[in-house]
Amino acid sequence: YYLLHNFSVMLDEEEIGEGLVLRDITKEEEIDLLKNNLISLTSHEFKTPITTIKGGVETLLRSEVEWDPEFKQEILEGVHEDIERIEHLVNDWLDISKIDSGTMYVERNTIRADHIIELSMELIPEQLTEDAILTFDNRLREGFTFFADKMRVQQVLINLITNALRYNDSSPKTIVITLDREEGYTTISVADNGIGISDDQLEKIFNRFYQVDVTATRRTGGTGLGLAICTGIMEAHEGKIKVQSNPGNGSVFTLYFPEKEGEE
Ligand code: ADP
Repeated sequence: YYLLHNFSVMLDEEEIGEGLVLRDITKEEEIDLLKNNLISLTSHEFKTPITTIKGGVETLLRSEVEWDPEFKQEILEGVHEDIERIEHLVNDWLDISKIDSGTMYVERNTIRADHIIELSMELIPEQLTEDAILTFDNRLREGFTFFADKMRVQQVLINLITNALRYNDSSPKTIVITLDREEGYTTISVADNGIGISDDQLEKIFNRFYQVDVTATRRTGGTGLGLAICTGIMEAHEGKIKVQSNPGNGSVFTLYFPEKEGEE
């Protein structure tokens, strides 16, 4: 359903309740709405990095000027950062299309948790991890394995760990990664001591484009698609993602991967 508007229900000039006008939309219409949303969002988000890349490259192309090597380096680093930003947007967009068309396929193998966490950590920008303390479950050293798609799990973990560091004003930032097995699932939890999420926002953060604080997110360059993609990836694993939070004190995101049939 798509919410058109809400209204008050009156009886003898007294308000006795609230009503909602919902329109039953088809799956196709829903996808269209989301696509329009995605297109307007991304075209806006693309504009800034493209403008900076263009400006940077045009500056360097001015052959009549002998640029200082340090200045040149600075411009190239900026251009590189903006290209990465565009790459990120395109990848997010492709993943959302896969989720919508039911083609977010996963290739599951038995993978080692320590390897996957190490690989994920390597891909997180250094400026995010420099004032952070990461603690890992002891079981990581014992070669703990689970059944999942290596690249997709890595993507989900990078997202959760990046969020845990971004939405965090504590010093030092602490992240604890825990592994467990419960009722047919292998679980991986990422706990942070960040700003936390209030009860009424807990469900919404998994929705596309939803961001609790747009100004803070603008600063961190998020798109609000990360957790929606994580949900799609976990569903493709026939698993789930859950969150618990204590506003002001931090959050815990837990991934549930179904165990391989016939395995303990
Ligand atoms: P993005 O980070 O690009 O905004 P996400 O879908 O990853 O998009 O997250 C949606 C929103 O959920 C974030 O904008 C933020 O407000 C909130 N959020 C996500 N992870 C955390 C966290 N660990 N602590 C506090 N808030 C979080």
